[in-house]
Amino acid sequence: AHESILRRQSARESAARTYAHALPIVPVRARGLTIEGADGRRYLDCLSGAGTLALGHNHPVVLEAIRKVLDSGAPLHVLDLATPVKDAFTTELFRTLPPGLADRARVQFCGPAGTDAVEAALKLVRAATGRSGILAFTGAYHGMTAGALEVSGGAADVRVTRLPYPQDYRCPFGIGGETGAELGARWTESLLDDAKSGVPLPAGMILEPVQGEGGVIPAPDPWMRRMRRITEARSIPLIADEVQTGVGRTGRFWAVEHSGVVPDVMVLSKAIGGSLPLAVVVYRDDLDVWQPGAHAGTFRGNQLAMAAGTATLAYVRENGLAERAEALGRRMLARLASLMDEFPFIGDVRGRGLMIGMEIVDAEATPGPMSQDPPTADARRTGPLPAAPALAAAVQQECLRRGLIVELGGRHGSVVRLLPPLTITDEQTSAVLDRLADAVAAVAR
Ligand code: PMP
Repeated sequence: AHESILRRQSARESAARTYAHALPIVPVRARGLTIEGADGRRYLDCLSGAGTLALGHNHPVVLEAIRKVLDSGAPLHVLDLATPVKDAFTTELFRTLPPGLADRARVQFCGPAGTDAVEAALKLVRAATGRSGILAFTGAYHGMTAGALEVSGGAADVRVTRLPYPQDYRCPFGIGGETGAELGARWTESLLDDAKSGVPLPAGMILEPVQGEGGVIPAPDPWMRRMRRITEARSIPLIADEVQTGVGRTGRFWAVEHSGVVPDVMVLSKAIGGSLPLAVVVYRDDLDVWQPGAHAGTFRGNQLAMAAGTATLAYVRENGLAERAEALGRRMLARLASLMDEFPFIGDVRGRGLMIGMEIVDAEATPGPMSQDPPTADARRTGPLPAAPALAAAVQQECLRRGLIVELGGRHGSVVRLLPPLTITDEQTSAVLDRLADAVAAVAR
């Protein structure tokens, strides 16, 4: 079945498929970190539905929540009507929100993916401010619908102003660290305050507290606070896209909590649906300018997703899984940093919590200008080397051969990404690290 299913799907499905090209597996069963293919092979899944599965595959509390709704005879499709299931979800969601937003929050259910919530957020700030421009960042990823594409790195729209996202290893100013981030902040201010810059007062700024698809790049906390001050002083709503960073992944329940920044709007999806599709925008009540029907959609009332999401949010909160993600993340980063000493083609390792990236580079090339001010412990003390996407793909394939599923990402597709479930055990963490180290060593041979 394995081979014939693979053959049929690759003949029938669009070439635009993403993960399927690199991962020729046919999952038939899964539990926690483990996925089993139709050929009987088992894999440790550190892709986790692109960061969706906070509790891993088929967690008992998620299955139980879904079953409870199914067995209750409750309607599964209710558009945006109020239900006990939605009431429980909203209550649990509001319990987790950062202080400063929790007490004045409104939620808009969007349907059903992260990109839908991004659209809603952009539309909301435009309606609330009466302005149209958006500030977005290099390397950003917000989704694949028209508005989300415009604010994602690489696409372009006349209404979107692209600003440098701070990064250490490939800092556009060749400095990195907080100094590099500060230069980006000053650039932002100068654009906004210079009447001749051609950038009118925008409707909002959208940012990821840690860029995920862009290559796992955590924004420094002082830079986050600086963006908050810049936007607040000019009454520009700040939208935090926590689609990937949310629900404990980075070591706080929401990644904005690292810096203490309270955004005006939060875009949430992935883990909030407990592996089923669910997306919402949460925003401060004074932005709620929408008239009834101003934002609609048939699939905004997925009862199973809300129930699975409630169970997930509660489980992460009650079991301190954010703190656990932070501790395990440190452990993983330390091990990966030690690999850097051994393998020169690992140019950088970085991350926050269980959102981890390892950048694969061409070690034979001449380094660019030294970045890092001061150099972080985890970063090589040379300047950045050119990205090596083919080598990164080889690492991914060697991982797969060893039963480990990892994602590739980053601006050049050269960042090996790890997004294990927050429920990963200490033993499993060791197994993941050992297999990854083996894969890297195999590529080096
Ligand atoms: N925002 C971020 C930060 C994301 O990582 C993603 C998905 N990777 C999206 C938005 C889009 O979500 P979806 O794929 O569900 O549309």
